[in-house]
Amino acid sequence: MCESEKNLCQYVEDFFDGEMTAEETRDFELHLTACPTCQHRIKELQVMRNALQDVSDLKLPDEADLRIRHQLHEQIGDGSEGDEILDIEGLAQLLKIPVSEVVKRLNELPAFEIAGRIRFRRDRIEKWIHDQEVKLSWERTEQAHQTKNKIIQFPGGM
Ligand SMILES: [Zn+2]
Repeated sequence: MCESEKNLCQYVEDFFDGEMTAEETRDFELHLTACPTCQHRIKELQVMRNALQDVSDLKLPDEADLRIRHQLHEQIGDGSEGDEILDIEGLAQLLKIPVSEVVKRLNELPAFEIAGRIRFRRDRIEKWIHDQEVKLSWERTEQAHQTKNKIIQFPGGM
């Protein structure tokens, strides 16, 4: 193999990609008929290109589909979050407390068990949170009343 032929071998990808001038292409084709290395390389490149073609044929629509589904889920999610099921970790995240705290309070929380796993319905949890808010504000009102009563009773009663 002479020096000029070795140089031509470097351009096999240019040839394959059609990035050569007509003259270079003619020279390379001549080289190719006599160069098993380049013949082999061309075959490899062809296989690679086909594989890439297959991947982009298959994968891109899948990714697009996933994106669309994700967007749809987000859009639907805004309207119908009540159907969502949470696991213990999800609930801990929602309530912004450690998982261990959720586990401690399992009997207070509206949980259900399926396939040996504890799950929560988001709408039940939201109602439960609402109940806690009501309870808390009621307790505060009670405390406020008691405090007020004490203040009122204290000067007169004692
Ligand atoms: Zn070659």
